[in-house]
Amino acid sequence: METPSHCLACNACCKGLTVYLVPDDFLHIKQEWIDYTHGRPHLRQRHDHHRSCIALNETTGHCQIYEYRPLRCRAFREDSERCKAWRIGKYDPQD
Ligand code: SF4
Ligand code: SF4
Repeated sequence: METPSHCLACNACCKGLTVYLVPDDFLHIKQEWIDYTHGRPHLRQRHDHHRSCIALNETTGHCQIYEYRPLRCRAFREDSERCKAWRIGKYDPQD
């Protein structure tokens, strides 16, 4: 499955969002890409300015696991309310 074109030009939610994982997500994610905060698993972030997701290909801007991306990422459909809130810095992390 292709990443939506708008997302390719954006990638905003692949930078700085803590992508918490649920058990089904573990099937397709490399162990070394998983970090834990207070015992809660999430995808690692790079130590760059944007805190980019480890699964984001920095050259192409594509998600390397797009077909199997975690549920939290799937909630960020292009132009959804979450997407819009994230892009204007109004996203509620509890949402
Ligand atoms: S879902 Fe929204 S915030 Fe995320 S990459 Fe696509 S357009 Fe950007
Ligand atoms: S798993 Fe993929 S879609 Fe989700 S934040 Fe990382 S790069 Fe973006």
